[in-house]
Amino acid sequence: MKYEYYEPVIGLEIHLQLSTQSKAFCSDDASFGGEPNTHVSAISLGHPGTLPRLNKRQVEYAVRLGLALGSRINLRNCFDRKNYFYTDLPKGYQITQDRLPVCVGGSMELQMDGYRRTVRIHHIHMEEDAGKSIHDLSPRHSMIDLNRAGVPLLEIVSEPDLRSGEEVDAFMTAMRQLARYLGISDGNMQEGSMRCDVNVSVRKKGETLLGERCEIKNVNSMRFARQAIEFEVKRQVDLLENGEEIVRSTLNFNPATGETSPMRDKESAHDYRYFPDPDLPPVVFTQQWVDEVADSLPELPQTIFNRFVNKFELPEYDTRLLTQERETAAFF
Ligand code: ADP
Ligand code: MG
Repeated sequence: MKYEYYEPVIGLEIHLQLSTQSKAFCSDDASFGGEPNTHVSAISLGHPGTLPRLNKRQVEYAVRLGLALGSRINLRNCFDRKNYFYTDLPKGYQITQDRLPVCVGGSMELQMDGYRRTVRIHHIHMEEDAGKSIHDLSPRHSMIDLNRAGVPLLEIVSEPDLRSGEEVDAFMTAMRQLARYLGISDGNMQEGSMRCDVNVSVRKKGETLLGERCEIKNVNSMRFARQAIEFEVKRQVDLLENGEEIVRSTLNFNPATGETSPMRDKESAHDYRYFPDPDLPPVVFTQQWVDEVADSLPELPQTIFNRFVNKFELPEYDTRLLTQERETAAFF
């Protein structure tokens, strides 16, 4: 079987919606749902002349996650504009961090069946979500709901350290668990609080260079992530075995067919023209404040897990169940 000679290489860009009360740059309600277009103001609607004002809680949440993952915290970080035109993006740009993200580096340990995997974090940056376009409510119109526009997100970018769908599943599960322990996000994939772009390449086993990759956009369930990876790995190996090349591309995953397909060129051929957002001064905080955030962190899931295994000599499976949620672990 030709597939056995190849190894999948996977890197994730995870989007995590933060459970702040208000939005990233204004006081509009950031909670999920609500009557369409009720959690909006002139700022969410991108009216000319309005100015963003940074939500401090969002920054604190970013630092909490960075500290928990062992990232370096940039005491000075800044916001940039990512420009693109889309109906659910009224300003015509998304506020994000391109040059100086809030957290750099760090890692996450995964306990797999019989081995450990360390996944390095490239960086974590803060950004705002876009609104939602709904294409299946009306046969003739696309509907726009801007309640989500401006909700704070963290984007967690991993190094390409994952090697299978199981590892991707474990990584996302661990990230969701950590976010819940830290109280920064419910990580609910059904509601879109956690979603990811999955970058997939393949290479011959033993090869150290990376192969060309494809990026599957906006995967919103673990099962879809696994299916998309399985399909994509097979597709890429087939191409290479036929002497063809992998062309770097942006793909959609179709849950109905279990297949990936190229996004329309218009959507993938982006030139974002990033530039510093002149409306937002750099975010500057002191080491003392970072230390205070560090002191406020709860005991982390991995630490509790190890403590339970060592202290109570519980089997790993039971311990995993007991530590899945912070409340259960605390009760135990
Ligand atoms: P961009 O999407 O802006 O080009 P990067 O090149 O930094 O950004 O990569 C984004 C994601 O793609 C990261 O999660 C990274 O781990 C992953 N990635 C990069 N190269 C590969 C590769 N050859 N195979 C699989 N994943 C990759
Ligand atoms: Mg990308």
